[in-house]
Amino acid sequence: MTEHENKKTFLIGPEPSPTPLANPLFAVHLGMYAVKTEADVDTLYRRALRLEEYLGGLFGEDVPMSRQIAAQHLGVTLYGERWTDAQFEDHIAEMGHMREHGHPRRQYVSVHFHDLRPGQPCAVYQEINKKDGEEQRRVEAYPDGRHLWVEGGEGGEGTGDTEAEVYPFPGLEILNARHGQRAYLISDEMFEDHWKLAQREKCAWITDEIRQAGRQSMCNERKTDDSAYCTWHLNAAILMFPRLFQAK
Ligand SMILES: [Zn+2]
Repeated sequence: MTEHENKKTFLIGPEPSPTPLANPLFAVHLGMYAVKTEADVDTLYRRALRLEEYLGGLFGEDVPMSRQIAAQHLGVTLYGERWTDAQFEDHIAEMGHMREHGHPRRQYVSVHFHDLRPGQPCAVYQEINKKDGEEQRRVEAYPDGRHLWVEGGEGGEGTGDTEAEVYPFPGLEILNARHGQRAYLISDEMFEDHWKLAQREKCAWITDEIRQAGRQSMCNERKTDDSAYCTWHLNAAILMFPRLFQAK
């Protein structure tokens, strides 16, 4: 028998096990793959209670969770990531959000590019999963006023560049270390405003802006193909900002 086979494996079976922590789900949700010391037992017990408090009904009335049961896991060593308490709390928060809203926690990022490159957006707005940084939705803003949208990341659908390679969000620091761009976290309301604009089928020319109320009125004409504006406002825009329409 090898050393590994000799180890206790309560956290992931073999079933049936007399302990309530035997369900493999618990190993995943507690972030405790190794229980080597009495302090580890304390941590395991505390996290199991926290999980019970948060999700409820994990442990049957016949075998309520106790420190004694947690202590039965002393010596369990599996292969997996050991979480810090902060990571465990983050996981609890993620699960709670998932249960309440039906989707993972999200955050919103905007990246502005200072050097205009032909055919490239001057800014992108992204909705990303907090946990894994995966993009859910994206709005691409172009110098000529067009806002295009993409949903479902690479190979997703939308009017924007659905073939573009999409990498998980690397963090603001890394984005801001890249030359010629600036990244910010933005509110979900700000993202939704850009998203709405990208979905809009009418001209995006602002006819009246009431800044204090945060409202904008826009032209009600249909926009022309491949532009953000109706014919009238497209011509006006080209006259006023000719350089923005050269890069296309
Ligand atoms: Zn218009």
